Amino acid sequence: MQYKRIIIKVGTNVITQENGLLNEPVLKELVSQIAQLKKKGAEVVLVSSGAMGAGRPFVRLREKCNRVLERQILAAVGQTRLMNTYDRLLQKHGFLCAQVLATKEDFRDRRHYLNMKSCLEGLLQDEILPIVNENDVISVSELMFTDNDELAGLLSAMLNVEALIILSTVDGVMDRDPKEKGAKVISVVKPKHKNIHEGITSEKSLFGRGGMLTKCRIAERMSKLGITTHIANGKTKNILLDIFNNKSAGTLFPPAKKVSGIKKWIAHAEGQERGIAIVNKCAEEVLVAKDKAASLLPVGITKVTGDFEKGDIIRVENEKGKRVALGVAQYSSQKAKEFIGKSGKKPLIHYDYLFIIN
Ligand code: GLU
Repeated sequence: MQYKRIIIKVGTNVITQENGLLNEPVLKELVSQIAQLKKKGAEVVLVSSGAMGAGRPFVRLREKCNRVLERQILAAVGQTRLMNTYDRLLQKHGFLCAQVLATKEDFRDRRHYLNMKSCLEGLLQDEILPIVNENDVISVSELMFTDNDELAGLLSAMLNVEALIILSTVDGVMDRDPKEKGAKVISVVKPKHKNIHEGITSEKSLFGRGGMLTKCRIAERMSKLGITTHIANGKTKNILLDIFNNKSAGTLFPPAKKVSGIKKWIAHAEGQERGIAIVNKCAEEVLVAKDKAASLLPVGITKVTGDFEKGDIIRVENEKGKRVALGVAQYSSQKAKEFIGKSGKKPLIHYDYLFIIN
């Protein structure tokens, strides 16, 4: 696949050795492949874990140091080592890299979101490789991303990429416990593939498939957003080039459909809703109908809760409390309450700003 714009995510285990030191030969190999893709004109963003791992061999922590502080210190020390290594290796291919650190909050706040997006777009235009990691110094406990797979998924939606490549130390999604004889990599997970994660219980992840469940969930989410995901082994020689050259490598999750950039942002705004519009059965049917594009009109709304302003994200629910959609309100909750059930009024959410939850 000759992708124009991609996100590559590498996990800590891919780029660190068992003793915790960065694995230079693997990093060299990955950087060389990224450089080749860039030379072919691909726009690449790298999401790299490994800061904590890279810091661990060098820091002697005080006994009283708690887990949160430990994580912060290790990542703060390791992040510079990680970036230095990438920078040194990339320079040999004539490219510059840039460090971008993000927190979950940056995806909730529209201004932070747009600032980050415009910086990343600028770096891509200047052919600089953005290397993104979670800002582990600030992101503690509930502020944290589930993991960098989640961060890579959010960035993929933000930058409207064609593909997300998740590199770990397993060859892809397996059809059964990898320790079982005859276990094989599933090469393609079609959008309609039922219960792909049933075979990957959290129990099974203890057998060496840790994190595969989140990876699959993210890949499925990407598919709904129109983005292809590859899950593959980052230690396999030429893995990135093979993916680009259409050679069967790892597991591929093809996209289900095309979705606009703004809708991708809205899709990831769950949890930030300022209010709820409850709709009747008829309005729900119109909104979810696959064959036409419908906006949310006040005539189908039976109740409005919360206190929102024009531009805020709100949720649409049916009368049984099922989530139907997320969207950007075109006017305030006060006005929406006045318009409930009335026909001939401006849509509360315009179709272009409405994301239907499947
Ligand atoms: N941000 C963490 C680090 O650089 C990694 C998080 C993850 O592994 O997903 O060490």
